[in-house]
Amino acid sequence: MLEQAIGIFGGTFDPVHLGHLHLAASAWQMANLKEVRMLACAQSPLRTEPIASTKHRLQMLKLAVTEHAYLIIDDSEIIRGDKSYTFDTLQNLRATFKNTPLCLIMGIDAFCNFYKWYKWQNIFDLAHVIVANRPAANKPQATELILEIKKRQVFTAKNLEHELAGRILFIEINPLPISATQIRWLIKNGQSASNLLPDKVWQYIQNNNLYK
Ligand code: ATP
Repeated sequence: MLEQAIGIFGGTFDPVHLGHLHLAASAWQMANLKEVRMLACAQSPLRTEPIASTKHRLQMLKLAVTEHAYLIIDDSEIIRGDKSYTFDTLQNLRATFKNTPLCLIMGIDAFCNFYKWYKWQNIFDLAHVIVANRPAANKPQATELILEIKKRQVFTAKNLEHELAGRILFIEINPLPISATQIRWLIKNGQSASNLLPDKVWQYIQNNNLYK
């Protein structure tokens, strides 16, 4: 008998916003997850450096999760420093959670590039992948990815409960049309982004003059 599955939601969270929290909440509910670990990356191998410091990004995450007991902050990639490889992080988590299905959560935009991730096919030995729709995002195009979907897709969250790893589940959420890029742009251009972020995160950004 396996333990209740846990979710791992990685991101730059520069800054964390209501779209992230909505996806985490939806995945938690739809896949009956015990908790969702908000995994803040130090530096994504596929992106430019974050704008806010790791200290600020973590602090904003802390403020964002306070009212959601099922959200846990995972700062292991920040502590490790350097480039953040999800494969390494999942290997470490697997060593801790030996009998627990691990579910990597991402939006479809991130999944479209999943085949570029370090050891991406080996990630399926360590975790399931839950993919959520996002407004105006493409469908996966890469042949390698389409083959993996054919091999691994399941259609109900129950199917994630009986295996430790290796399945892909697409979930249909009511996605919020919010991105961190848009928030940074609004702030840089002197506009308010208060309705796109938790209140406490918006206050923090203002108090610390971030993204100006
Ligand atoms: P940026 O605009 O800087 O690229 P972002 O808002 O896309 O940032 P990230 O931290 O890069 O946020 O994304 C982390 C994860 O969150 C990715 O899997 C991404 O698909 C997902 N995500 C981000 N925003 C949303 C949203 N509004 N709805 C659903 N998923 C989202």
